Amino acid sequence: MLEALKKSLFPGRENEREVSSKPQALNADLHCHSVISDGTLTPTELAKRAHANGVELWSLTDHDEVRGQQEAALAAKALGLPYIPGVEISISWASETIHIVGLQINPDDAQLVEGLAKTRAGRAERAREMGEQLAAVGIEGAFEGAKYYAGNPELISRTHFARHLVETNHCDDVHEVFSRYLVPGKPGYVPMQWATLENALRWIIDSGGMAIVAHPGRYKLTELEMSTFLDQFRDLGGSGLEVVTGSHTLDQYRKYAKVAKRYGFKASRGSDFHGPEESRVDLGSLPPLPDSVIPVWQGW
Ligand code: AMP
Ligand code: MN
Ligand code: MN
Ligand code: MN
Repeated sequence: MLEALKKSLFPGRENEREVSSKPQALNADLHCHSVISDGTLTPTELAKRAHANGVELWSLTDHDEVRGQQEAALAAKALGLPYIPGVEISISWASETIHIVGLQINPDDAQLVEGLAKTRAGRAERAREMGEQLAAVGIEGAFEGAKYYAGNPELISRTHFARHLVETNHCDDVHEVFSRYLVPGKPGYVPMQWATLENALRWIIDSGGMAIVAHPGRYKLTELEMSTFLDQFRDLGGSGLEVVTGSHTLDQYRKYAKVAKRYGFKASRGSDFHGPEESRVDLGSLPPLPDSVIPVWQGW
């Protein structure tokens, strides 16, 4: 009866309910950062913002850290927002730094917690060296400045240096910092040996999670290197690719949807939100996943 009425009122739109309940249409945001790594909001503030923005499935994925997970899960629960435990692990692969997102991880898993602690361990010394390099080009006190911005003393990142350089008027914005400083060939860049691909995937998968390549469009790899990397990632148990992320263009959504299909990877969606002052893309505001992919949340 109702269906017949809808058909007569909205000819051609009778399948609308079916269309809007496609799994690809879910407003999932499965990648963002809190003060526990290099974001500017607390896990609770992020949960509230995600909820207010209409996010329907949320994950906090701090760099190399799970210490925000309990707060994020509790805050999401209080709001009735479905929550997925997450992390973003820095790895070194063929002299490139690559980020692997782990979702549905167990943040209390001993191997994961220990692995992440080891991955973070070199950051303090690296930060001191970054400060020395910047001092050598006339920028004094950058290490102390970055430390001031770091909410977690074990996680001083380039982002914290970038905030200091903007605050002290050495650059107009964070984007300018990452073109003039902190990148290969520029003052303040200190190469790091992060986790290996093998270890990061083992920590994630053994804890019950699934491993996803973060923002694949951002790496400076040739097509051949990228396919070699993705082959290894799949052979080691990796199963997902970020397709719709704040780092990708519309063309890259299409490109990586095809790549995901070719490799049999599920597709993820996440803003990579770091804070209202810095991030172009807000929580929950990206376009939906393309219809052609299988979302990582299918089957959860
Ligand atoms: P780290 O893990 O200390 O090397 O810092 C990496 C972080 O720096 C990334 O997660 C981003 O938040 C930030 N970052 C790197 N490149 C850029 C860029 N070009 N523009 C803005 N932020 C960047
Ligand atoms: Mn970051
Ligand atoms: Mn990343
Ligand atoms: Mn990120």
